[in-house]
Amino acid sequence: MTILLSDPRVRAVPVVECGEPLVRLPRDLSPVGALVRAGLAQRLMAADIRLPWGVRLRVVEGHRPVEEQQAIIASYGATLRALHPQVDGAELERLTSRFVSPVDVAPHVAGAAVDLTLVDACGDELDLGTAIDATPEQSDGRCWTAADGIGADARAHRDLLAEVLGAQGLVNYPTEWWHWSFGDRYWALVTEARHALYGPVAVAVAA
Ligand SMILES: [Zn+2]
Repeated sequence: MTILLSDPRVRAVPVVECGEPLVRLPRDLSPVGALVRAGLAQRLMAADIRLPWGVRLRVVEGHRPVEEQQAIIASYGATLRALHPQVDGAELERLTSRFVSPVDVAPHVAGAAVDLTLVDACGDELDLGTAIDATPEQSDGRCWTAADGIGADARAHRDLLAEVLGAQGLVNYPTEWWHWSFGDRYWALVTEARHALYGPVAVAVAA
């Protein structure tokens, strides 16, 4: 069964902050220079070199400030409210969290998550079935990692991500094929770790 980030069991996971700094990913892995926890950066680099020749990871987002997460929640919440005017607040939160994480458990705010895809030797994005950040509404549900209705290439590429990132201990959020995390509360719940390693980071201070 799918565990969503709004699940009370995610919030119940304790965080024992390990204090690892945020570091900037190398440009060949993340042209935007995404920031992530040092331990996550190492795992991403290890996954990257295990890809077939000519295929690379491309990280498009890492650490996200709290204010940015709040703005994303408000924007998507407003969209959903317009689509489903009859639902109450709790249901709206559940629907929103299929796609956007509440701040206190947000993996990106902890520097514990990345949004990524695969690129070829020219740096062009491979077919993963939907655009990164496609909502369930926009993609008719094909943003779900296990979704039907994507081509064989897209399926193979999603499976390849799962193989190399899973081998490094990362976990995927099932509604977003591009979202992978390590050390956050969601990761701890899914992997049955005793506690999360990374809590929210308020200010990005990395070089
Ligand atoms: Zn994400």
